[in-house]
Amino acid sequence: MNNFGLNIWSNKNFVIEDGQIKLNYKSMPSLLQIVEEIRSNKVRGPLLLRFPHLIKRQIKTLYSYFDKAIINNNYKGSFNAVFPLKVNQFPNAIDAITSEGKEFNYGLEAGSKAELILAMSKVPSEANITVNGFKDREMITLGFIAAQCGYNITLIIEGLRELKTIIEVSKESSLKIPNIGIRVRLHSIGSGTWAKSGGMDAKFGLTSTEIIEAVTLLREANLLEYLNMIHFHIGSQMSDIAPLKKALRESGNIYAELKKMGANKLNNINIGGGLAVEYDQHTHSKSRNYSIDEFSSSVVFLLGEIMDAKDVEHPNIFTESGRFIVASHAVLITPVLELFTQDYREKLLNFKTKNPPLIEELVELNKFLNNSNCIEYLHDALDHMESLLTLFDLGYIDLQDRSNAEILVHNIIRKALYLKSANPTNELEQLQTKLQERYLINASIFQSLPDYWGLNQHFPVMPLHHLNTIPLRAASLWDITCDSDGEIGFNPEKPLYLHDVNLDKEDYFLGFFNVGAYQETLGMNHNLFTHPNEYTIKISDNSYEIINAVESKNILNILESLGYNIINISNKLKSDLSCSIFATEKEKNDTLAKLELFLKQNGYLRTTN
Ligand SMILES: *Cc1c(COP(=O)(O)O)cnc(C)c1O
Repeated sequence: MNNFGLNIWSNKNFVIEDGQIKLNYKSMPSLLQIVEEIRSNKVRGPLLLRFPHLIKRQIKTLYSYFDKAIINNNYKGSFNAVFPLKVNQFPNAIDAITSEGKEFNYGLEAGSKAELILAMSKVPSEANITVNGFKDREMITLGFIAAQCGYNITLIIEGLRELKTIIEVSKESSLKIPNIGIRVRLHSIGSGTWAKSGGMDAKFGLTSTEIIEAVTLLREANLLEYLNMIHFHIGSQMSDIAPLKKALRESGNIYAELKKMGANKLNNINIGGGLAVEYDQHTHSKSRNYSIDEFSSSVVFLLGEIMDAKDVEHPNIFTESGRFIVASHAVLITPVLELFTQDYREKLLNFKTKNPPLIEELVELNKFLNNSNCIEYLHDALDHMESLLTLFDLGYIDLQDRSNAEILVHNIIRKALYLKSANPTNELEQLQTKLQERYLINASIFQSLPDYWGLNQHFPVMPLHHLNTIPLRAASLWDITCDSDGEIGFNPEKPLYLHDVNLDKEDYFLGFFNVGAYQETLGMNHNLFTHPNEYTIKISDNSYEIINAVESKNILNILESLGYNIINISNKLKSDLSCSIFATEKEKNDTLAKLELFLKQNGYLRTTN
């Protein structure tokens, strides 16, 4: 049975039961049940569902593995974590992190002024704020203001100029001084698609010469006691653990050297993010070569070993894992609007009183195909198809004959695929790939899965139902943007097979999983499709609640965000319509009301599905 790689990517967050995918938690609602409840209020288009319990699960996992490693290694420092806002700044994601993370004192990381303001307004009072990225005097002053407010903030400098500005601001004001961290430029290089953050030519961090100079500057300004953290980040979605170990050795030794140089208050090593998430649906290509257990033990063990060798106290460990914390919490649900090879449905056959003999033979083959004759009949059918196409080119049969032939042959292939689905021949597999079905999904890949478009990042996808029947259609997915890049093509190496459903009779929904990291804010409004309607689902022992509904922007708001005057736009349309001639006054009023309604709805398709 095809489980769409659930055992590989889902981390037991979901299970398949009674042909549906369900949350593997408490009352175990099925995704279909939740979707149907939301849609019963006339909601259409794509839906983004958030599950805060999955954020809690990741936070707990991270802490429990590090706590275990700390005990096992007799490590003396503590474990702390901050969430990097750039990974998902949406209010309902951040609220879930701060509320689920409260008991762990989970902090926030900011990489820009806007993120810093957000961090200050959202971080629990005792928790940490770390600030990375390039900073001007204003942003540094904001850091001082945060310290003055009483936040536990560390400004991590990316270069000496930032440090000089910190020193200047400290001299010019009597505001409380924030903690200072140094991002080190590592010799070791990250791995994986996003590994541009480490290495000698990295965009960020201080070289050893600059670190020495920084210490001198801090000492001269009497600020060395504010230096409390060193930081590195070797890039997102780390596929291999070896570069991390190198980075830990390098930064651990830098830390110990700094202690020896008199940085007495230095007591934290921040190892950045990069902890990978499994996105693969096919066993043969796993996204990472380590477990969270190995990751946490390696960090704790190596740092302990380096400090013991240099006779330096164990530092507290900070992580800035983003992807690992939030990727799993969000699921994108898209209705399928259309299946393009539905055109080959048998009911569209239209025979004449006298049909060409080859067509009559195809009818017989289609009728009598069974498990034992299937391959032979299939070969005959393919052979006849070739001949019929030649006859068409030569003008001996007409378009109706050709259409009948295509429908019959497609049917024969489909039947053969079904009969042999447990054990398909090479030839059948190839035919299956050729006979791709195009599933039109009510969503925008640019808006909701931008990393697929930009980086070819695969996201696990599967139907929410029909899971007790074998899917046989080689599927490519088309979104509703008018852009040929808005397609997830069929990849024979990582094939996606979906069901043959009659959309006139029933709905068919696909879920895209692990979309909670980066996708939402990287998403772009191509064709003016915006962030889908979102809902937070709180699951309890006996049921579940749908809360925090946020509707997708309506059409007028989208235009307004581009700078258009929407009052003018809607007045113009309404007056143009009012001035036209209608058969009745009622029709005029109804049409005006319709226009008004359309302007206030989002741009996803809603009449079909
Ligand atoms: C992006 C970033 C992170 C988060 O990385 P993940 O791979 O999402 O864990 C952490 N720290 C810094 C400095 C970053 O730039």
